[in-house]
Amino acid sequence: MAAHRKILVTSALPYANGSIHLGHLVEYIQTDIWVRFQKMRGHECHYVCADDTHGTPVMLRAEQEGITPEALIERVHREHLGDFTDFHIAFDNYYSTNSEENRELSQDIYRKLKAAGLIDIRTIEQLYDPQKQMFLPDRFIKGCCPKCKAADQYGDSCEVCGATYAPTDLIDPYSAISGATPILKESEHHFFKLGECESFLKQWLLENQQPPLQAEATNKISEWFESGLKDWDISRDAPYFGFEIPDAPGKYFYVWLDAPIGYMASFKNLCALKGLDFDSYWREGSDAEIYHFIGKDILYFHALFWPATLKFSGHRTPTKINVHGFLTVNGQKMSKSRGTFIMARTYLNHLNPEYLRYYFAAKLSDRIEDIDLNVEDFAARVNSNLVGKYINIASRSAGFIKNRFDGQLCATLDDAGATLLATIQHKQPQIAELYENRQFSEAMREIMALADVANEYVDETKPWVLAKEPGREHELQQVCTTLINAFRLLTLYLKPVLPQLSSQIEAFLHIAPLQWGDATTLLLDQQINAYQHLMTRIEQKQIDALLAESVTTLKPQPTSSAPSKTPPKEQATKEVKMDQINYDDFAKVDLRIARIVKADHVEGADKLLQLTLDIGEEKTRNVFAGIKSAYSPEQLEGKLTVIVANLAPRQMRFGLSEGMVLAAGPGGEELWILEPHAGAQPGMKVK
Ligand SMILES: [Zn+2]
Repeated sequence: MAAHRKILVTSALPYANGSIHLGHLVEYIQTDIWVRFQKMRGHECHYVCADDTHGTPVMLRAEQEGITPEALIERVHREHLGDFTDFHIAFDNYYSTNSEENRELSQDIYRKLKAAGLIDIRTIEQLYDPQKQMFLPDRFIKGCCPKCKAADQYGDSCEVCGATYAPTDLIDPYSAISGATPILKESEHHFFKLGECESFLKQWLLENQQPPLQAEATNKISEWFESGLKDWDISRDAPYFGFEIPDAPGKYFYVWLDAPIGYMASFKNLCALKGLDFDSYWREGSDAEIYHFIGKDILYFHALFWPATLKFSGHRTPTKINVHGFLTVNGQKMSKSRGTFIMARTYLNHLNPEYLRYYFAAKLSDRIEDIDLNVEDFAARVNSNLVGKYINIASRSAGFIKNRFDGQLCATLDDAGATLLATIQHKQPQIAELYENRQFSEAMREIMALADVANEYVDETKPWVLAKEPGREHELQQVCTTLINAFRLLTLYLKPVLPQLSSQIEAFLHIAPLQWGDATTLLLDQQINAYQHLMTRIEQKQIDALLAESVTTLKPQPTSSAPSKTPPKEQATKEVKMDQINYDDFAKVDLRIARIVKADHVEGADKLLQLTLDIGEEKTRNVFAGIKSAYSPEQLEGKLTVIVANLAPRQMRFGLSEGMVLAAGPGGEELWILEPHAGAQPGMKVK
């Protein structure tokens, strides 16, 4: 490999419709460590990313919040960048796919693919929401599974039996947006003929001297080749938040077409800012290296569509696509109810981000396997390795140098000290290779093994004993100089993982920012500054507080803190937004049609009415409802309504309440109980 490399690195673009959580951070921390290492080695390395902003979910979310998509994505961009910055993820550019550069590049690439004969336009039939007046993406159509008949399944697959199908196969489909029954409607769609790129892709992926994928990913790709490459539908109809397709009014690029092009657009923007040559990175035959870090869920897009798009629009292909697995917490999928679905910001409220950077580094390899964050192991490793082994080397020696020798390090070392430092220096090429190959867990193991050797030296030389024995001052100064140098070398090795701590240590050692090549030198005959406390141990109460806050963030929150265009009155009656539940959660609630047989005032209660309800059971139910401010008993008798029939009975001052009647409204006179359309009978289940 070239002595001076030109490297462009990307992480996957987070979608502008949600917050960053620890699962996302696996990738950004992995990429950031790799980039920092390359920069420390003196290579020209650029790290770009962006928010992925287009598509139906962003459009609908903005609509729901009463703001423009542009306002939504701007708010989310600020939030995402704030989270990344606080985790010391140092992008050279963090941009947006909703940019002029991206529009131009997307349209230009599309035109080139079209000129190459790779775009097919044909009419397809698709489900359309006649009420909302839009075509429905698969995930916005629900209905009965055609195979197992389970209710309320998505348009692409059944969560009950696992079947996959076309949305038109659903029984009794309905729009998840309006509830309307969708109709089939014709529309012209633009397709990218991926099948025609097969021989190029096979050659690039399977016969490449330098395979762009890990072996596990290559195996997966081979399976896809066997089942055949299908054409890719790259257009969507208005209304859609995205870029219009050239010469096709009302047709937009599908979000997945312009998202990877967003890597180029972010870099193009950086090139303009820094005066870099964009084409020297992206033209065919470029000697620059391009690396994409992605999760295993988006391999298909990055290993098939993306290189084919690049190749046939006259660009170079990526050097490597580095795929990682998912994050589990305590051995299980992240769970909101267990408090293990941890948001980046929630973590930052309780713990130092460098703890997590170190822990992920200690877990990450070049393989695609999932990594587990075990909270006990997390605290134990940070405390024993970072604080107990590594920081300990400085805290054992720095005070003596400052207090006894006025901050002065020795000019020479004794043999044992020189041997120790040579041992640490000797490991530099091996640790470099581990970083280069993304074998971070191996690198951390090697570095901590060196910290062990330095700690053995501390135990053998016992600086705290030397300090008490008159006449051994020079020995003490030499031992402590050795330890400060050991600490400096280990800091250099850990710097890609712990950038913030490293810069504090550089200030303490009074040295210029450490570069990878500095491992061949030592710090002798120089002054260092006073040692200040560098890192504290993780305490159990911090972990407990983190998990507790992660559970509470689930509670219903106000829809938005952002300025809203909704008039005040409407806002007051607007429902708080709840987290999504699956059908099983909903099915736990037994909702029944009830006839209000009798309604009475309650003596001594100024808000309650006592309702006697027929819900199709032998006995009637007695329910106390807080609706007196809006209804008189006469208005209710004989009416139908809806009751939560399996709510645990509640003993009240006036008697037992056996269920809850459903009503809407802010309260007072503005309260309306639910009433089914004519024909519903007491006892019918609401589902
Ligand atoms: Zn099914």
